[in-house]
Amino acid sequence: MEPIKIKFWGVRGSIPTPGPRTIRYGGNTSCVEIQFPGKPRFIIDAGSGIRELGKELLQSKIPVKAYIFLTHFHWDHIQGLPFFKPAFKPGNHFILYGCDEPDVDLTQIISMQMNPIYFPVAVEDMGAKVEFRTAKEGAFEVEGVTIRTQFMNHPGYTFGYRFTYQGKSIIYISDNEPYRRPNDNGEPAAGISLEDRFENFYDNKEDQFINFISGADLLIHDTQYFPHEYEERITWGHSPYTYTVDIAVKARVKQLVLFHHDPDHDDDTVDKMAELSRARLNNHNYPIPCIAAKEGDVIVL
Ligand SMILES: [Zn+2]
Repeated sequence: MEPIKIKFWGVRGSIPTPGPRTIRYGGNTSCVEIQFPGKPRFIIDAGSGIRELGKELLQSKIPVKAYIFLTHFHWDHIQGLPFFKPAFKPGNHFILYGCDEPDVDLTQIISMQMNPIYFPVAVEDMGAKVEFRTAKEGAFEVEGVTIRTQFMNHPGYTFGYRFTYQGKSIIYISDNEPYRRPNDNGEPAAGISLEDRFENFYDNKEDQFINFISGADLLIHDTQYFPHEYEERITWGHSPYTYTVDIAVKARVKQLVLFHHDPDHDDDTVDKMAELSRARLNNHNYPIPCIAAKEGDVIVL
């Protein structure tokens, strides 16, 4: 059986961070590609990293068909879309999945991004065939791949995705924070203070979340902060590495990738976070492979 390949085109959160301090991990915002054998490409998020991926797709001698799955519409997840050149090439075909917001649907959201005030080319003039498909929280199938979505704990509507194909599962959760906050004793406090923006209300969202990521072959998860940084940014929708490691252990995932690096973290700081994460996994007696995502990295499953 041919392997599944996962390639990282953008690993940064919030805003692109070019320059010498981020040269090893890369400064482009979120974009990850999954190549399932013999299938059109799956692209997750369209941060500035999608531009480089687009350059590769332009080399194709045959028309390109690809699926783009958006987690949400904060800039760092869509800002590369207007610069994704294969979408301007007639003959190519892109199918874009994302959720609707309460008063505005997926098509309108992307069209607004390319309103002439912000960008000179309208979405309907992109050249390629571009289809928009609204995804709901739940499960659906694309090209024989089962896709599960669940809303994460992040301001606004934000999907986590679980892709399962031939018994292998890959989870992509770019933006998420703990559902329960630690109290003074370090114990998880009951309940969450964020407003309930989920379509389905579950009393215990943490359990629902662990179930969503349970047993995955690869978990790519938000690791934006050190715990002391998180303490000052509760409700911003991002995780300290301690939480990311702990849920990976709890859900018995097989491999962990730290993702959505803070724009203020230079390469050495990201190194340090990866080291601390591996040490924490060891302390849990659960020493699975764990790396901080780097632009250009490829993981083979
Ligand atoms: Zn983000």
